[in-house]
Parts: sequence; structure tokens; C-alpha cells
Amino acid sequence: MTHDPPEPTFYDDPKLTYTIEKPIKTWDEKRREWLRLHPSYLPGLENRVMLVTGSQSTACQNPIGDHLLLRYFKNKVDYCRIHGYDIFYNNVLFHPKMFTYWAKIPTVRAAMLAHPEAEWIWWVDADAVFTDMDFKLPLQRYKNYNFVVHGWPDLIFEKKSWTSLNAGVFLIRNSQWALDFMDVWSGMGPQTPNYERWGEILRETCKDKFFPESDDQTGLVYLLLKEKEKWADKVYIEDKYYFEGYWMEIVERLENITKKYIEIERKAGELRRRHAEKVREGYSALWEQYLEGEWRRPFMTHFTGCQPCSGTHNELYSRQKCWDAMQKVLNFADNQVLRSYGFVHSSLGDSSSVVPLPFDYPA
Ligand code: MN
Repeated sequence: MTHDPPEPTFYDDPKLTYTIEKPIKTWDEKRREWLRLHPSYLPGLENRVMLVTGSQSTACQNPIGDHLLLRYFKNKVDYCRIHGYDIFYNNVLFHPKMFTYWAKIPTVRAAMLAHPEAEWIWWVDADAVFTDMDFKLPLQRYKNYNFVVHGWPDLIFEKKSWTSLNAGVFLIRNSQWALDFMDVWSGMGPQTPNYERWGEILRETCKDKFFPESDDQTGLVYLLLKEKEKWADKVYIEDKYYFEGYWMEIVERLENITKKYIEIERKAGELRRRHAEKVREGYSALWEQYLEGEWRRPFMTHFTGCQPCSGTHNELYSRQKCWDAMQKVLNFADNQVLRSYGFVHSSLGDSSSVVPLPFDYPA
């Protein structure tokens, strides 16, 4: 029995598709023209952020993986809802060969083209959790930059370490620069004939990289090191706060952070009641402490190495340790959401039950 070949469709015509292999030109002009025709998007344009995230298209292997992904997603939806950000959750590969960590590049690129109204596309890995629901990105600080990533400049430029930055969370400006950058970056990916060679080059560049495949994170370090003059002046390496933070550094501190926040809010409440005129002064002094203190809420906690969906966690820690920490972190974040509705989790380890908050509980 023979089958007729399928009828060609729109998708088979390479002239009509926006695949990652085909560079896009004059995007800034096209976007400007689109904005001219849609002037209602102009006010607030420079602060308009769209969060993009995603996970695999099939069910998780870990029996509680899908439940965890749902909670991770809820956390992102809550943050976006509070701050008025749009969100896109992708569950398919936009390039069939760009799997795992490479999948984010075609996704971000597609989101950029589909949303000319968004100034920034914010990629956030599925396994990263917002742990300060009030904190807003300091976009003013990034106004002359096109790409923001969490990292440590000395580890990048001196140690040349593949973990000198984390590619699981980044901000990228909707621009031709970004499209050009992603073209070069994705040129090290599994969809190219040079994939294996790139694996070797990246291992030669970052000696601590222990696996042979070319990966997006080492690729980013490589571009900063080797094509510094081309890209680095538009890349902001954020190291002043947890743009994303390693969960192992954070999880043990959460209970103390909660206590401190309650303490400081109580003090602020007293000030407010006692001397109305001194409130601003006193409050900003407390706020300063909050900003300086090491008990400040980490903005984002990233479960690097835990693999919530597949369950194939890193050998450094047990599966139980990962799950317990995830529960604590997710409940810590959820408490900041539930507060507005008058409830709080009875403890960080208890995902199911809540207790009502007294009316004078600090906001
Ligand atoms: Mn991650």
C-alpha cells in the first residue's frame, strides 16, 4: 500500500514562515510603524513587560510534577496580575530541534514579534518562583541596555565560568538588536550543523563546563567573552539583588525573613498611629533598612538542579530536599498573595490549610 505525499500547506512554504533560520530585518522600523498605527499602546510603553515561560508538551514523569508546574505557573500569574504584566505560557517547541534549554530562544523571538506593544520580553524558567510579590523590576536602571541577566562580572570575565551567570531568567528589549543577538546565540544550538563543534568550543572556553553538549548558558558567557565589543555594552549583568537566586542559598532564611517583615511593619504601624507627620521620615528609614538588610525578601528563587517535572534532580541533594524546599518557597510567596484576601498559611510547610489574619495585620 502506498500513500500519496501530503498536500503542501502554508507551513511548507519557506517564504511565508518566520523560522529561526531566517533573519528578520528592520524590525525597529516595522515596530515603530505598528505603534504609530496603534497609538493607544504608546503611554507607558517603556515600562511594558511581557513575561514568557513554558514547559514540555507531555505529562511530567514525576508523579507530582504537573501539580508543581501548576503552582509555579500560579505564582507567575499572581505576580503578573499584581503588576499588570501580560504573560504567555508555551507548551510546544517552536523549532522542533531546539529542545530543553534551547527552546526558550524561538519562544522569546516569536513573542517579541507577536507583541510589538511590549518593550521588554521577560523569560522566566518554569522552575523559578517570585518570592517578593511587591518588588518591581528597576527598569530605569536598564534604560540604556537591551539584555539583563543575573551574574557576576568577575566570574564571567576572569574565571570564565559557565555558572558565572544564569540564563534561566532574562529581560530582553523588543528590538532589532535582540533579534540579531538571538540569531547569533541560537547559532550554537542543536538545529545547526555546528552543534557538536560548538560543544567543544564552549568547553574550551569555560573549563568548568562538565557536559559535552553546547548549551545556551555557556553560549551566553562565550558571547560576552569573545564578542565583547559587539554585545557587552548593551548587556547589563545584574548582581545587586536576586534577579534570580539559587534556592539552596535562600530556603533556610525564609522563616526569619517573615519574622523580620512582620516586625518592621508593626514598627511602621506604630509610627503611623503615634505621629502622623513623622510617618514618611520614619517609614523611609525602615525601608532603607529593609533594602540593605540581608533578610530582604529574595525577588526570585530558582530551583536549579531540582527538575520538578522529570524528577531527575541533581545528585547534590535528595528529591525530598527539593520537594520540601519547593513547598516552603511556594507557600512563602503565596502568603504574600493570600494576605490581600485575609488569609495566611499556618506554616510554610503546610500547603493546604490557612488561618484568617487579624484586621490590623501589617499590609
Ligand atoms: Mn531553571
